[in-house]
Amino acid sequence: MYDLIIVGAGPAGLTAALYAGRYRLNTLVLEKMSVGGQIILSSTIENFPGFPGGISTVELMERMHQQIRELNISVELDEVLKITSDLKSKQPVYNIITAGKSYQAKCVIIATGAQPKRLDIEGEAKLIGRGVSYCATCDGPLFKDKEIVVIGGGDRAIEEAIFLTGYAKKVTLIHRRNQLRASAILVEKANRNPKINFILESVADEIIGKDKVEGVRIKNVATNSETNLPCQGIFIFVGIKPNTGSFKDILKLDELGFIITDQDLNTSLVGVSACGDCRKKSLYQVVTACAEGATAAALTHKYLS
Ligand code: NAP
Repeated sequence: MYDLIIVGAGPAGLTAALYAGRYRLNTLVLEKMSVGGQIILSSTIENFPGFPGGISTVELMERMHQQIRELNISVELDEVLKITSDLKSKQPVYNIITAGKSYQAKCVIIATGAQPKRLDIEGEAKLIGRGVSYCATCDGPLFKDKEIVVIGGGDRAIEEAIFLTGYAKKVTLIHRRNQLRASAILVEKANRNPKINFILESVADEIIGKDKVEGVRIKNVATNSETNLPCQGIFIFVGIKPNTGSFKDILKLDELGFIITDQDLNTSLVGVSACGDCRKKSLYQVVTACAEGATAAALTHKYLS
């Protein structure tokens, strides 16, 4: 029986583990894939306090992992499929069920994060790994001296477009409105980059190519005119989708699947809190994920004592 099981080992889960370890809670972290979370799909992070000039996301996450190893908290690679409990009990015990095991804990912190949203346009699914990508760090090096299209207008699209200019001959960013959503400092940086050009007020309608990406069909939403833009790579950064499918029967979620919490990060179940990108909130950043991880662990400690 654990005091606390944390589901997810991204910034929120690892920070929750750091705080739980310092409270000496008997804690286990379960992670379905690899330590680090979706932030390691980006190359560097420039706005995590304390790292002027930015830090590699892999290094940042390795440092967080090291900090919890120093507290003897382990991360087990096991995918949580379901959580069950006797919900009538005042102090329920939770069964955290994976493919081969069932773990028991008095409290659970859900920090399962999110994944890149797909556009769901023709050609997208069939050309994933054949020119369509959601991870510039992973796939950018494959596009040396090639022409790349980036879709999206938020921080990720701009950051990754800039990163991709390190490899590509040309990067064209397509955004559906005539104003970018990204932070001004990133937009200024992208505007100064001679390899980046913008096509605004336009959406990608279809990804063209039989066995690999050959281009993208773009529609201007103001004029409805359509053009084909030849390219070899398409990177899609149009927001996130929460990893909460395993909890849909037991927790209150919003219409997009984000976990609903109160201001103390409590979910609809006593003893279960949520933090990071899997919860409904107004700012999805590594720094907010970490802050929520700390809060969730501190309040779990208070609940247990
Ligand atoms: P985002 O900030 O939600 O931006 C999504 C962009 O994609 C928006 O510009 C949006 O257009 C566009 N979009 C959404 N659906 C679309 C569709 N169907 N077709 C065409 N365009 C579409 O998300 P993001 O930039 O992908 O970043 C993902 C998350 O990571 C965000 O929550 C962000 O805050 C976070 N992030 C954190 C850090 C950090 O912690 N340092 C760094 C980067 C990103 P509109 O503008 O018209 O809505």
